[in-house]
Amino acid sequence: MASIKTIGLLTSGGDAPGMNAAIRAVTRSAIFSGFKVKGIYRGYRGLVSDEVVDFRAQDVSNIMHHGGTILKTARCKEFMTAEGRQQAYDVMKKHEIDALVVIGGDGSLSGARQFASEFDVPIVGLPGTIDNDLYGTDHTIGYDTALNTIMWCVDRIRDTASSHERLFIIEVMGRNAGFLALNGAVASGAEAAIIPEISTEVDQLAELIESGFRKSKRSSIVLVAESPITGGAMGLAERVRKEYPQYDTRVTILGHLQRGGSPTAQDRILASRMGAAAIDALLEGQRNVMIGDDDEHIVYVPFSKAIRKDKPIDRDLIDILRRLSI
Ligand code: ADP
Repeated sequence: MASIKTIGLLTSGGDAPGMNAAIRAVTRSAIFSGFKVKGIYRGYRGLVSDEVVDFRAQDVSNIMHHGGTILKTARCKEFMTAEGRQQAYDVMKKHEIDALVVIGGDGSLSGARQFASEFDVPIVGLPGTIDNDLYGTDHTIGYDTALNTIMWCVDRIRDTASSHERLFIIEVMGRNAGFLALNGAVASGAEAAIIPEISTEVDQLAELIESGFRKSKRSSIVLVAESPITGGAMGLAERVRKEYPQYDTRVTILGHLQRGGSPTAQDRILASRMGAAAIDALLEGQRNVMIGDDDEHIVYVPFSKAIRKDKPIDRDLIDILRRLSI
């Protein structure tokens, strides 16, 4: 492998708060270590269509407290094809980019893995997704901010929910993972979380209804992870209407509210540590790994492991939710 002089940086897929802090950390650490940095706009789309600019240390000033990503992000169909990836490689060569840092979720890292299997390009990934669904890292960049946003929203819904015997079903994001729903439920004092990880084991809705509403309150709040497996909030509400018509049900879908906002301190620190670690990884000759956080320690996780779909949920939290919602 030729030595690395220039690093290309992109954000891809769903945006997440903290991506800007990661862009800042990668750019500044790289320049600190003597590399040149090129910012690639709109994820893989910008790599295919040649939207590449030089990044200096001052280009990433005053960005870390903003949500979204200054590099913009996109989904790119061309990169799913061999021709599109060849074009992306040609653009890299044109700009003399020797290595890539990709900030994104499961799809973006799958793309990185595919690209690295076809071309001799060292790639380091940073887990940038609110869903926390990447294997091999305790937390992803953006997850803590989204969790805090969910808590903030549920607190407000609870304020209006106090005087009727109502079942509030609140749908949160998660892309087939229950981290936001389960942790959001614990953090906001909700009665239950309906999550894909255990949907095939138990009928969580029946279990919740049969256990009765919380005795000390007249309304119940349930968080559900968006997923075809859980049925989402609409699917659950439909079931309640048919199977338990005695309950007055209200649905709130938090949607894109969860992606926005200024990142929390935790996300900014995680993004800063991971961004610096991405440059360390390249300096150490690592390639095709995602930076992970294991008990506050930086670890290198091969892409093939990071994109496994079965990151385990903390089952103790399910039990804690049950105990605390009597
Ligand atoms: P996220 O990174 O948030 O999970 P997506 O799943 O939308 O977002 O993936 C982002 C982009 O990564 C896709 O639009 C596509 O360009 C690329 N990508 C995803 N999977 C693959 C793959 N198997 N091969 C090549 N590129 C991929």
